[in-house]
Amino acid sequence: MKSHVQVAVIGGGVVGASVLYHLARAGWSDVVLIERDELTCGSTWHAAGGMHTLNGDPNVAKLQEYTINLYKEIEEASGQACGTHITGGVNLATTRERLDFMKLACARARYLGLDMEMISVDEAARIFPLMDKKHFLGALYNPLEGHVDPNGVTNAYAKAARNKGAEVYRFTHVKALTQRTDGSWDVITEKGNINAQHVVNAGGLWAREVGRMAGLELPILAMQHQYLITGEIPEVVASEKEVLHCIDFEGEIYMRQEGRGMLIGTYEKRGVPWAERDTPWNFTHELLPPDLDRIAPSLEVGFQHFPPLEAAGIKRVVNGPFTFAPDGNPLIGPIRGLSNYWVACGVMAGFSQGGGVGLALSNWIIDGDPGFDVWAMDVGRFGDWATMAYTNAKVRENYSRRFRIRFPNEELPAARPLRTTPAYDRLKAKGAVFGVAYGLEYPLWYAPPGTPAVEDVTYRRSNAHAPVGAECRAVRNDVGLLEIATFSRYSVEGADAEGWLSRVLANKPPRPGRMTLSPMLNDRGKLIGDFTVANAGNDRYFVFGSGIAETYHMRWFEKQQSLGSDTVDPGSAGREDDRRAHRRSLTPSLKSLRTELLGFAIAGPKSRELLSRVCPDDVSNDAFPFLAFRETHIGMIPAKIGRISFTGELGYEIWVGADYHLALHDALIAAGADLGLTHFGSRALNSLRLEKSFGNWAREYRPIYSPVETGLERFVNMSKGDFVGRDAFQRDKESGGVRRLVTFVVDAKEADAIGDEPVWHDGKVVGWITSGGYGHCVGKSIALGYVPKDLAGATSGFEIELLGERREATLTRQALYDPAGMKLRT
Ligand SMILES: Cc1cc2nc3c(=O)[nH]c(=O)nc-3n(C[C@H](O)[C@H](O)[C@H](O)COP(=O)(O)OP(=O)(O)OC[C@H]3O[C@@H](n4cnc5c(N)ncnc54)[C@H](O)[C@@H]3O)c2cc1C
Repeated sequence: MKSHVQVAVIGGGVVGASVLYHLARAGWSDVVLIERDELTCGSTWHAAGGMHTLNGDPNVAKLQEYTINLYKEIEEASGQACGTHITGGVNLATTRERLDFMKLACARARYLGLDMEMISVDEAARIFPLMDKKHFLGALYNPLEGHVDPNGVTNAYAKAARNKGAEVYRFTHVKALTQRTDGSWDVITEKGNINAQHVVNAGGLWAREVGRMAGLELPILAMQHQYLITGEIPEVVASEKEVLHCIDFEGEIYMRQEGRGMLIGTYEKRGVPWAERDTPWNFTHELLPPDLDRIAPSLEVGFQHFPPLEAAGIKRVVNGPFTFAPDGNPLIGPIRGLSNYWVACGVMAGFSQGGGVGLALSNWIIDGDPGFDVWAMDVGRFGDWATMAYTNAKVRENYSRRFRIRFPNEELPAARPLRTTPAYDRLKAKGAVFGVAYGLEYPLWYAPPGTPAVEDVTYRRSNAHAPVGAECRAVRNDVGLLEIATFSRYSVEGADAEGWLSRVLANKPPRPGRMTLSPMLNDRGKLIGDFTVANAGNDRYFVFGSGIAETYHMRWFEKQQSLGSDTVDPGSAGREDDRRAHRRSLTPSLKSLRTELLGFAIAGPKSRELLSRVCPDDVSNDAFPFLAFRETHIGMIPAKIGRISFTGELGYEIWVGADYHLALHDALIAAGADLGLTHFGSRALNSLRLEKSFGNWAREYRPIYSPVETGLERFVNMSKGDFVGRDAFQRDKESGGVRRLVTFVVDAKEADAIGDEPVWHDGKVVGWITSGGYGHCVGKSIALGYVPKDLAGATSGFEIELLGERREATLTRQALYDPAGMKLRT
């Protein structure tokens, strides 16, 4: 066993083996995989091995395609067969909503370059004769579906990695991890210790335990999952080709050929977790007792939908556990506050996703960046609120809904309410319909008095459409009140705050009493954040951004802090230790104010009048201009106020200590009643910002886009000196990037764009939509999205595919509402 390595991967399931292979393939051969027993002995060995490219997140779908296409490569690199069967798959719909879901998936596949198509029930029955046509309305055909041999795949990754210099230690249990002061890890095993520069937790069923070795409680839970193998089926035996994969969503079953019969698996509604608190270490190559009663309802539907199955009898039942994160997507990446510790766990579809996970994580370890957009899988999408009990509730919910549709406007009920603000009950009494983001309840819209505060879930316009329209008009005509706890807020203080902000963000920090908008770039010049920065004077800054990205951003900020400022005190230029100590002393104090600072925004032409009634200061345009920031009072409440609004109207964001939140709400309501002050929620905010063509983090702004492409270039300040991503930005500016963020007016009917629809031009798919909705005050359906930069000058010839129909779209060169931005400024 080696004593020092670059990376120790803990866990020899399909995921750990893939990470090892990708590290070795990238040239890091001083890497080892440590497995407590035999490879695959956790959840991998008994998997059904099914794989496909269907995923709600386009970036994950792409990684699934990468994974499936990788099997040929690892077979060649290892000489080990993966048992790959690409049969193609047919996904069946019994309802109109499911057909909509499939049309959307098919449309999304088009811009991803994946080849899926909608087919008729007759066509489906021709290629999948086990089905009884009368139950179905339509189907989606996916050529890139099939299955692999789990053991073959895992060993192929491991052998291919060994061929590139990696080592695999089987029957070696990692008992503990201790971190040295240089950031490396001592991996304590029963057979000796290894000092590793980096460790990867690919512990699968035991990922929580491997997390606890470093003081982490990862949001993962294993669920029991059952599939059965039928006896011989004459139609299967008679089939000339291998029978296709099939998903029957309403039956909640998937199936594929296994020998002369079929393998049938279910995601039943009442799923049962396994090892809820601790995973037994003596569980190895084991199965759980079958419980056919639990899956009987799904099987009954299955027998009706696929009559030959009923007569076939059951040969074998497999019940095995595998892990899920609260939202069902993998957990990968570095952990905030823990250097050189990486996770690759919670992978519920190891044979569709394992390759992509290995690629992303190895890139991240080697280059400091995953190389593409992994937001949907980033462990940083969760915060400290994702506790064990939260995870338990959400994983159960997610498992039970695995084959159910998640509508774009649907908010799931489990584990709620968890985080609320003091004004929650007030807003609820006002009719607020809440959504949840980063564990926090926030108002989506307000149901008018006498109507139920419940939204119909649909792909089309819902019962919220008219109330949201009324909220928008109140903002544009009078004044609206929005809770802004969904924004993140940080304080950056100290002598080096300005220098640090200048280095970490792309714009120059503002002068005292002012605010600026500032993108944040990574070393590749891509967008990893967009913030409003306020200078409160005396080396105190407040930074506001997207609430869902708090862990993601804090992890980056703290990494930048640990790197320190590049400014080196000439007096300490001698010894590295001195320089390091000096750099540390230059780093400002940085803190998330999530629980300390809460607020409301007021927006609309009467917002100044409202503010003047509650604030003792002169709030005239001259005294309190656009982008001014000041610390003052609202009535008796100490407050920080920035003159800015994401609605595009005259507006203010007012921040107060959490203990004043309720008082702030009530003071504003009391003062604004005769001005028509109206509560509005994030649905209205979305409509208003679309009218202004304002982009949103995680939609228009993601780490695959550059400032030049997003139109944020004007907020990058090249004259201020060095900053992270400067060189890459310069190169991007010279080349002009690849694409452009544009605004479309869509000839929509009852369904607006929601995001991820393909953009067609002259009969070809040329781009994609990032978000959309109805602009209530301009009376148009709006969509924001990306097209190749050469097409950004065109206005016509575009179509956007909505629910399977290509709808004409006009590219508009300027915002539909107040393009000159006069409302914000006057
Ligand atoms: C019944 C069933 C059917 C499934 N069907 C499919 C399917 O059709 N398609 C699909 O894609 N997925 C399927 N899955 C899911 C799939 O099995 C998982 O996605 C996959 O196994 C996850 O692999 P892993 O490497 O993360 O975890 P594991 O396979 O659990 O691997 C973790 C490994 O880490 C080792 N380990 C943990 N702690 C330590 C330690 N301290 N020291 C040393 N070693 C350690 C363990 O021994 C284990 O070998 C199925 C799962 C089940 C249960």
